[in-house]
Amino acid sequence: MDNTDLGVLCALILAIAIYLKREQIKEFISSNDDDIMASNSDSRDVVQVLRENNKNYLVLFASQTGTAEDYAKKFAKELASKFSLKVMCGDIEQYDFENINELPDNVFVTLFISTYGEGDFPDGAVQFEDFISNASEGSLDTLKFSLFGLGNSTYEFYNGAARKALDYLKAAGATLVGDFGQGDDGAGTTDEDYMTWKGNTFETLKDKLHLDEHEQKFEPSFVLKKLESIDDNVAVGEPSLHYLPCNKLTYNSEKVQVGPFDLSQPFIAPVVKTYELFKNTDRNCIHTEFDVSGSNIKYSTGDHLAVWPSNATEKVDQFLKVFNLDPGMIFDLKPLDSTIKVPFPTPTTVGAAVRQYLEISGPISRQIFGQLVQFAPNQDIKQKLIDLSTDRDQFAIEITAKYFDLADALLRLSEGKPWSTVPLEFLVETIPHLQPRYYSISSSSLSEKQTIHITSVVENFPNPSSDVEGNVTGVTTNLLRNIQLAQNKQETKDSMPVHYNLNGPRDLLAGFKLPVHVRRSTFRLPSNPATPVIMVGPGTGVAPFRGFVRERVKFLEKQENIKLGKHILFYGSRNQDDFLYQDEWPEYSKKLDGAFEMIVAHSRLPNAKKVYVQDKLLEREDEVFDMINNGAFIYICGDAKGMAQGVHTSLVDILTRKKAIAKEDAAEIIKMLKTTGRYQEDVW
Ligand code: FAD
Repeated sequence: MDNTDLGVLCALILAIAIYLKREQIKEFISSNDDDIMASNSDSRDVVQVLRENNKNYLVLFASQTGTAEDYAKKFAKELASKFSLKVMCGDIEQYDFENINELPDNVFVTLFISTYGEGDFPDGAVQFEDFISNASEGSLDTLKFSLFGLGNSTYEFYNGAARKALDYLKAAGATLVGDFGQGDDGAGTTDEDYMTWKGNTFETLKDKLHLDEHEQKFEPSFVLKKLESIDDNVAVGEPSLHYLPCNKLTYNSEKVQVGPFDLSQPFIAPVVKTYELFKNTDRNCIHTEFDVSGSNIKYSTGDHLAVWPSNATEKVDQFLKVFNLDPGMIFDLKPLDSTIKVPFPTPTTVGAAVRQYLEISGPISRQIFGQLVQFAPNQDIKQKLIDLSTDRDQFAIEITAKYFDLADALLRLSEGKPWSTVPLEFLVETIPHLQPRYYSISSSSLSEKQTIHITSVVENFPNPSSDVEGNVTGVTTNLLRNIQLAQNKQETKDSMPVHYNLNGPRDLLAGFKLPVHVRRSTFRLPSNPATPVIMVGPGTGVAPFRGFVRERVKFLEKQENIKLGKHILFYGSRNQDDFLYQDEWPEYSKKLDGAFEMIVAHSRLPNAKKVYVQDKLLEREDEVFDMINNGAFIYICGDAKGMAQGVHTSLVDILTRKKAIAKEDAAEIIKMLKTTGRYQEDVW
């Protein structure tokens, strides 16, 4: 046996060990369940599962960050409670669809599909895409489906995945029921788009399936059981069951965490360094470094880091107060059938669920007001809820424009009185699961193998509505800011609007740690270092380009006699105060010896015209055009709404002028560059 064989054997043994460990964990998790499940079938056959669980409607979601899942669950719940349908709601990833054409004639399917990247399906839907794109003509002729896409119109391939799904399904003979719905995050109208589409779809379904509509009545999908005492099986906020004290499988004999680390299990990473990047005091931007040594986590320059947050203490306390909840209450959730998944680790405590597992802050949807009507504490509030949930304009003025989260809004409606009538089951089922936030990695895997850097601007601003006090705050970025202040021994008490339990559940995060995992992206430097590179990244959009440039610096240090192509970075900030990493760039220029140039646009210099990156591109159009002509790769990162569009327009203008062609033809060239990977966007 030579070294290669030995390596392969070791890798095989490791893979088997990891698999067995995962299986043991699964077994451990399921062995906690008693016999409430209607069916314990492990089948991936969607029709079989539906039949076994006696369901008569199918809702499926393909979600990348949890939004499609959230809408699918809301839709399924409302369908069940308004029309007494037995709805099965599941992740497309969990099923095979080969015999979906054998669904009973009166069983319709509703799909919720998010678009990701360049009009792509979410990672978990690749198999589904493969199936429908290869389905032969007429092979799905009995399938009746409705479809809601979740997309962003500031991207070129708006709702690309849902549109492709529509075309494939129709081509295979399936029948679209009602309108094709498209939620537009770019316009900030996803919720209203959904409400309009849902109203129309319900009308169509009522007609086609002869459904009787009745007042919405919440029917729990879980049996909630109270427990008496906390033991090692009870999650007190651990990000996944793997981290429960009873589960010795998470750590190996050297107390090193066992992966793989992904959306189902994060790595608990020490935060080894944090510092403030802005010089002014009214806004903050935090540089954070995570140590991933010993985790076996590999990342590539340009990937994303997912940071798993918890809610701020002020938000948790307010939420508990509004719903009159006892944070110490211990409960378990048992799904009523096997198609329903418990959304977070259980058994757990109410306090842990509110702090760690539910998305309790952030904007609210009109829909939840409609669902809350049944629990209104009195007749006046009930009427107010009905009015707000049915009048989109009134809701926009009284709730959305005031930046209320659920607790704020309900307290305002009830004039400070608690909503003790809302059952805990409703809250845990209706409020979305707290999701990790993604950050473009600002380090290079070549120069920082064991450390991952991120660059995040803190979401914290005074409520723009004149009659609401306090600040509007983001969950994760304020957590990072709290860590940065505490780690650098600065006071957080008065300087921050919100505070966190930094030690985490059972002190899991003590000593400044956070749960993280890496998500692969396609944002990659060209493999040939001689290829010219144009990078456009204002604000925190510069994050991956710091990684790219560090990558090139390290590469040059390692390789001799390499000719690097021209690397040009268009960066933008308001002024010198928020110029990110300003001390680092001159050093990189020196090391890259003329191959790297940074062009800076400032948009808020005193007595000066506002200048943006797209203006700077135009100023340098000869050079930009030459670089594109010489095979340059173009990268854009940052704000999807204004900037990415503006940069696209500037590049179209440059090509139009320099090539003396029509705008449409220039836009077509950019499209081709996108298709061939020479124009890449990492925008949010
Ligand atoms: P959240 O809690 O998610 O809140 C989001 C926004 O809603 C905030 O502006 C908040 O103030 C506002 N808000 C809060 N409550 C309400 C309310 N009741 N009503 C209305 N609005 C409200 N960001 C970076 O800084 N750097 C990066 O490198 C970066 N890379 C990214 C890469 C990708 C692929 C993606 C998808 C996003 C990236 N982001 C990046 C954005 C990042 O993921 C987060 O969205 C951002 O940091 C805010 O997270 P948060 O938890 O602090 O705010």
